[in-house]
Amino acid sequence: MSVALDRRLAETGTRFRIFPQPRFLTKADGSPLFPEPETVTVAPSPGAVERGPADDRMFVVDAIGKLPYNQFFRPPYSGAARDAVEPGPDGHFDHLDPASREFSAATMYATVRRVLDIWEDYFGRTIQWHFESDFARLELIPLIEWNNAQSGYGFLEFGFGRTPTGTIDHSRPFCENFDVLSHELGHSLIFAEVGIPASPADEGIDYGGMHESAGDLVAIVASLHFHSVVDMLLENTKGNLLTINGLDRVGELSDSRQIRIAFNALRMSDVNDEPHDRSMPLTGAIFDTMVEFFQQDLVNKKLITDDLRNRSTNLPGTAHDLDQIQTDFAAAYAGNEAAFKESLLLARDYLGRLLATTWSDISPDFLTYHGILRAILDADRTLTGGANAAIIRSCFAWREIAPVPASMLMRQHTLTSCGLDTAASAAAGPADGFSAMIPTPRSSYQNLRR
Ligand SMILES: [Zn+2]
Repeated sequence: MSVALDRRLAETGTRFRIFPQPRFLTKADGSPLFPEPETVTVAPSPGAVERGPADDRMFVVDAIGKLPYNQFFRPPYSGAARDAVEPGPDGHFDHLDPASREFSAATMYATVRRVLDIWEDYFGRTIQWHFESDFARLELIPLIEWNNAQSGYGFLEFGFGRTPTGTIDHSRPFCENFDVLSHELGHSLIFAEVGIPASPADEGIDYGGMHESAGDLVAIVASLHFHSVVDMLLENTKGNLLTINGLDRVGELSDSRQIRIAFNALRMSDVNDEPHDRSMPLTGAIFDTMVEFFQQDLVNKKLITDDLRNRSTNLPGTAHDLDQIQTDFAAAYAGNEAAFKESLLLARDYLGRLLATTWSDISPDFLTYHGILRAILDADRTLTGGANAAIIRSCFAWREIAPVPASMLMRQHTLTSCGLDTAASAAAGPADGFSAMIPTPRSSYQNLRR
């Protein structure tokens, strides 16, 4: 899916340059983790991305002296604004100086547009905005004087990070933070595709956790579209992406919020009802599903042995030597870097399609993590005929995602509670246990006629 999308867009889309991770993330020696912006191509063709940047789905307004939107102050913004950012003579925006304000404004557009392109490709259709009854396009406000950022009905509005004393840190514009922007767009995507609980009696505890998890997964899958991120992840881990105890292997990437969340080891018994906290086991279960898919593909292509895959999948606390596992991965990775990357991109695109299919299917009403698990199994049946059911079950089981003990799904039905024992035994006479459960054809027919 996405690999094909990128091949297509390279011919037809409009180029921008954006940083895969915030520029303030550094290596151990103090140099930037990602010193250069990476070229990305958004779907609208040169010319269809107008000055702003703007297109038919979204537009940037670099507002002057604007206060944050609130309950009484909503889009569209009609106050003073700086000049719109102009494309280069070829219609692309990859000419902008990374030190300029225009670069920041263009980054906000390119990031949101890129993440939308990626997810529309996984959904296989246009994602219509949840605010479409009021606004045709999403309003993007990149750099207001505020030590915060927010997404709301019809807009994304971003300020700056905070210094230790709480003042505005102008070196950390949120609009250049790919994690933050794509997480916020993830919320919009869930509002658009899943919707919101209808009943006031619905506490929405798992719904809230699912929303935060979706924001992070939208961001994680999108960031795995940067070659520099994928290359660094594989180079650091040698393909040993098992998330439990995995953070020490991702090296300097562990300063990225997204990576810390993807590589979390929390289970349901570790978290409370607060949405961000509760999101962690779900995100972990889903990310692990991608990792297991990746390792299965490595086995299928004879890039690692089944034995190594089994040893790495077994959890800490078992007898396996984690250092030996890492040594074996390093040996397998050496000389096969391109093939490992191809497998990881395949796994990424499987996860993207799996999530899009799941989110298209689930109802927001009285949503439970167990319901999401069943929707994911169903999505896998749709996509692969159920080839990954065992992987999905084990990843979710480890996170302790299961029917709640009081669930009606756990209720047992006896012949007595079904009202079958007296009628069946009278009709069938002496019989074994199994046939006693089946009403005779005659009694079924009578039931129908009543
Ligand atoms: Zn969020």
